[in-house]
Amino acid sequence: MELCIDFGGSEIKLGVLDRGEPVRTAAVPVGEGDLEAAAAAAAALIAAAPAAPDAAGIAVPGVVDRAAGRLVKAHDKQPRLGGLDLVAWADAAFGLPAVIENDARAALLGEISAGSAAGARDAVLMTLGTGIGTAAVMDGVLLRGAHDHAGILGGHLTVDLDAPLCNCGNVGCAESIAGAWAIRRDLAERGDAVADVKEMLAAAEAGDAVATTLRDRALRAWGATAVSLCHAYDPDVVVLSGGIMRAGAAVAGPVEAYVREHLWTSSHRPSFTIPDRPDLSVLRGLSVLAAGNHPRRSARVNR
Ligand SMILES: [Zn+2]
Repeated sequence: MELCIDFGGSEIKLGVLDRGEPVRTAAVPVGEGDLEAAAAAAAALIAAAPAAPDAAGIAVPGVVDRAAGRLVKAHDKQPRLGGLDLVAWADAAFGLPAVIENDARAALLGEISAGSAAGARDAVLMTLGTGIGTAAVMDGVLLRGAHDHAGILGGHLTVDLDAPLCNCGNVGCAESIAGAWAIRRDLAERGDAVADVKEMLAAAEAGDAVATTLRDRALRAWGATAVSLCHAYDPDVVVLSGGIMRAGAAVAGPVEAYVREHLWTSSHRPSFTIPDRPDLSVLRGLSVLAAGNHPRRSARVNR
């Protein structure tokens, strides 16, 4: 059994899983005292589980230093976790050895292990939410790179050289245009009555001009990001996940159409998939990592 904790932007999801299969799950909102609340919720899960977990997996929404067990950089997300030794925290709180991973990487591992892209050896994931998270697996190996930055910064590929500076330091990143935080900013600046992505999509569907402009821009930014991921990693499968994908085909359809229109002419046209249980992707991936039982385990995975 594995204790898995996903420190999301708005919610901390927890689960006790058995090699990728959820046994019990819980969630606590992000806010004051949430680390303590997460520890208490995890203790309750462990107490209720049929067997004690023997390892822990922790995901964070940013760049991780896996060796040091720390979140290195997430900009505005989870600022209190920055620099905190989460491996030491898990040891002190639960007495468990822990692995730490970027949330998008964990989600992709969850989807290729047991989810919507089960068995895929070449896949990319794009998670659309507060930010834009990405990850890639090539030849069955989850990409991490020399310094743990590979594959996960797809939301910070430039899609508009004339757009403002992103909080990461780069110019015109997709996330700075089409992350939920950027869309909320743009809706507020334009004084529109709608306040978030869900309302923007509904208002655009109803013909609202401002909402339509912002929606179409966001769809192009998500589509351009997916094209760049395909150009970079040559996947068979593109997994679309995250809270914004609750909109389903209203987002997936235009993104897929954009990719088919703009992808390098001879490139393989990948299949697109949306997880049935996106809330479990990260926890499943963490469970696999923590158990060290990834079916295509290699020297570059699970260390
Ligand atoms: Zn950026």
